[in-house]
Amino acid sequence: MLSREHLVCKIPVTHPRYASLMTRERIVEGVEKGITSLNGMIAQGRGEAFDYLIGERTIDDAMYATRAAVALLILAERPVISVNGNTAALMPEDMVKFSRKAGIPLEVNLFYRTEKRVRKIIGHLEEHGAVEVLGAEHNCMIPCLDHERAKTSSKGIFSADVVLVPLEDGDRCETLVKMGKKVICVDLNPISRTSRMATISIVDNVVRVIPNMSNLYDEMCGLSRPELEKLVESFDNQDNLKKTLLYIGKRMNELNIEGNFMDYS
Ligand code: ATP
Ligand code: MG
Repeated sequence: MLSREHLVCKIPVTHPRYASLMTRERIVEGVEKGITSLNGMIAQGRGEAFDYLIGERTIDDAMYATRAAVALLILAERPVISVNGNTAALMPEDMVKFSRKAGIPLEVNLFYRTEKRVRKIIGHLEEHGAVEVLGAEHNCMIPCLDHERAKTSSKGIFSADVVLVPLEDGDRCETLVKMGKKVICVDLNPISRTSRMATISIVDNVVRVIPNMSNLYDEMCGLSRPELEKLVESFDNQDNLKKTLLYIGKRMNELNIEGNFMDYS
């Protein structure tokens, strides 16, 4: 049997789906290292399907949401980035880089939580340059949530005013909002409970979103408070999700016109 390393080497850079296949490899590697749960592979598959529908690129509506999200993060007093097993495996460098640049702490928060996996993820993020990662110490519980994602740190998610949660669960997203927090989610599925419940939903692949946020942060840091507030206040999540669904519908219709389907790349 070929080793996995050998299999990875067999994906040529020229492969038309190289980027997507390499992303998938990162998730598999995450599972092998004990960072990502097996269920994380299913979540990745669901995400890939929606990524196809938007054309595996950042659409305008997603960039609009990302801009509002960065404004909200700059305005926040106690922002936190929630990290799970998929995001830690997919882009630890980008997460750490953005967290350090924007001065936003990272907190490991898992649905399939084991203390061993939390420690592994923290170690993995530290190997990629993180200075302090919250989550090992979970001294506060989010009320009315019966699963492991309720376990949070008093220094992090529990007391945060704005939480960036890539790949969130709909019920926790709803609970965080009920607690008065502003929730920014990254979810390729525009009709998930998460997307519908969040304050700002970014319908895009998290591997594209965090670098986009990092670039926008540089650009937007110089904006005044009223300018940032205007970006946040003028953002309407339900309206933006509707536009995303319209975009997908239009794109599907265009692909369906004879001949166009084969031009798809
Ligand atoms: P709901 O939000 O409706 O409660 P869920 O959270 O239970 O659903 P899961 O399958 O557990 O659903 O969550 C995974 C979600 O994360 C999917 O909606 C999927 O589209 C999204 N997702 C997976 N990988 C990525 C990725 N790389 N970038 C952005 N979103 C992703
Ligand atoms: Mg979800």
